[in-house]
Amino acid sequence: MALIDVAVPVPLRQTFTYTCDTVLPAGVRVKVPFGNRQLVGIVMGEAAPTESDKLKAVSTVLDTTPVLDASLLTLCRWLSQYYHHAPGEVLHTVLPVLLRKGERATPDDIVLLTATTEGQNCSLSELQRAPKQQACLAWLREQSQPRSDVTSAYSAAVVKSLADKSLIEEVRQPWQPRPFHFVDALHVQGAPVPDKEQAVAIAAISSQRHAFASFLLEGVTGSGKTEVYLQAIEPVLRDGKQVLILVPEIGLTPQTVRRFENRFGIAVGVLHSQLTDTARLKVWQQAREGELGIIIGTRSAIFTPLKRPGMLIVDEEHDESFKQQDGLRYHARDLAVLRAKDAQIPLVMGTATPSLETLNNALAGRYHHLQLTRRAGGAQSTRQHVLDIRDQPLRHGIAEGLLTVMRQHLQQGNQVLVFVNRRGFAPALLCHHCGATETCQRCERPFTVHRSFNRMQCHHCAATRPIPGRCESCGSQELVTSGVGTEQVESGLATLFPHVAQVRIDSDSVRGKDKLQDTLQKVNAREYQILIGTQILSKGHHFPHVTLVVVLDCDGALFSADFRAAEKLAQLVTQLAGRAGRASKPGEMWLQTHNPDHPLLQDLVHNGYGHFARQALAERQMAALPPFTSQIVIRAEATDGRQAYDYLMACRTVLQQDGSVTLIGPMPTLMEKRQGRFRFMLVCQHDRRKPLHDALRLAMPYFASHRLANRVRWSVDIDPTDF
Ligand code: ADP
Ligand code: ZN
Ligand code: ZN
Repeated sequence: MALIDVAVPVPLRQTFTYTCDTVLPAGVRVKVPFGNRQLVGIVMGEAAPTESDKLKAVSTVLDTTPVLDASLLTLCRWLSQYYHHAPGEVLHTVLPVLLRKGERATPDDIVLLTATTEGQNCSLSELQRAPKQQACLAWLREQSQPRSDVTSAYSAAVVKSLADKSLIEEVRQPWQPRPFHFVDALHVQGAPVPDKEQAVAIAAISSQRHAFASFLLEGVTGSGKTEVYLQAIEPVLRDGKQVLILVPEIGLTPQTVRRFENRFGIAVGVLHSQLTDTARLKVWQQAREGELGIIIGTRSAIFTPLKRPGMLIVDEEHDESFKQQDGLRYHARDLAVLRAKDAQIPLVMGTATPSLETLNNALAGRYHHLQLTRRAGGAQSTRQHVLDIRDQPLRHGIAEGLLTVMRQHLQQGNQVLVFVNRRGFAPALLCHHCGATETCQRCERPFTVHRSFNRMQCHHCAATRPIPGRCESCGSQELVTSGVGTEQVESGLATLFPHVAQVRIDSDSVRGKDKLQDTLQKVNAREYQILIGTQILSKGHHFPHVTLVVVLDCDGALFSADFRAAEKLAQLVTQLAGRAGRASKPGEMWLQTHNPDHPLLQDLVHNGYGHFARQALAERQMAALPPFTSQIVIRAEATDGRQAYDYLMACRTVLQQDGSVTLIGPMPTLMEKRQGRFRFMLVCQHDRRKPLHDALRLAMPYFASHRLANRVRWSVDIDPTDF
């Protein structure tokens, strides 16, 4: 009798011991009794001997070989540790849905039709009157054939007659990996000659391809980053190794996939959230068997098993969709570093607008830094201007002067893109007359307005104050909150431009399969003249007919309590500027603000993202914020806000025992109310990661056993990117 350690999908931060007839290898799935249920668990290894005589036995062993290889199991153990997450739930996040449900990990048996002994020995002339049956039997006497092949060559009646006469029968054969190898099918074509910067990048990556190395490929939009990926992976594929490419949720278009397929002449495995469970499992299996040379997928594709890993690529590495925002809140880019290190292969992270985390790693020499500074094809980038809207009459949030500019562009038959920043729901309070923000004196940071509580709060020190009636600087009563909603802008523009076709593109309006692709196609076919959109517009799509981009509200981002808001705005503005217009039609961009002299905004507009980002990084260091410090956010939400607050207060009391962790809050999250529940957060910070995680590890059991733990929805977010 063996004792095995099993990770069971329950929200408990432990594994469980079961008995089994034989020792099972780690990574094998088992069905086990848990309470009064049967759950699919994963064997983590042998269990330590125990005194307990109440151990239950494994009900069924589901696999003969492990579904997770050693490297993915190591990753799972790390995930559970680092994200302080229940091991069984980690494993379930990593596995394809069908495998979580206990379906078989290998494809179904193959059903063959074969001639029986009788069929082999009978005389074919006996079937003279039935020539089809005769031919079919003769064929199957030579060799058994898959049932599907037989039924496509002959009618069902023919097959049935032969079976009824016991001349042929069905046999099941377990599925075998096909000896297919993508290398045999490689057929490279259509590669342009790389320019000098591309050639340097390609050579740098290729020369490191047999060892672990991380690269930041920082290239302006349209500078040919994808072309660098294509040429850098060619030798990897020729070595017979596989390449896994992560792309943002909406950057994965059929065009992207086709570009890789056309270059190499091999099928590309695609993984995204809208695939059926069966289709997902198939790609997972093919990747695991080494049949696929290239796999392109969104966030969760980071868990794809690879038989012969050769290179990892994270495209648009700054994109927020790589961070999972519920359940196991992992960051796929961070996991890519781990996987590349474990497999001893290179990792390439490409973007025009690096996240400050990645840029910091590159500047500190931890990543090789490759740069592409020119746009392929010589297209000009969009000119950017700051528009001072202090004391300006605004119509539906747009300055009068800008409306005139919009009219001009529309009259020339061009498209106008109006961008509404939806980040930072809880905005700052600004004076429309002088541009001053209501600021916490102690922290010199703007207060965040929480309308549901009718108060302002400093998200740095948690101090609160009632919302004032006058500007403290100039006494004006015209205090405005930054931030307008997309719907509001949409109805406003409809009244201002009644005869111009407009379309709203945000995550609500393009929900559903292919909806975004359809809308974008219509945009580029010029069915609409005004596009109103959020973040979603800045990713991977080109808008050749857009010549004017209007950013309605920069202040929301400049004064947000989310310290990443300015970085996100800068990434967005830069991505948008890079995607609008084309060589023959250069574009312009206007950024509306009450603070035209804001140094970060000036830096961005005059010196570009790269300069801005380095400046912002220096500010983060001075303010002791990530990536120079480590953060953890504990969130709680409840219909009775008091309970959520009290729960976090209790968490705070426990964490305070540590003495070295900086604790801010509890305070409302930026989106303070969602689906009828009030949401609070407690921010925990330390200048080093380890002591912060140690403190959390000690405190976790208290969090879980608190009397309110079952009344509020609470969660722990490690390295949060959203507040
Ligand atoms: P990015 O990924 O940086 O947006 P792409 O790789 O998509 O850039 O390149 C932008 C365009 O320029 C594409 O149409 C691509 O085919 C073309 N391109 C890239 N590199 C070259 C090159 N060396 N010679 C000619 N065309 C190129
Ligand atoms: Zn004022
Ligand atoms: Zn403060």
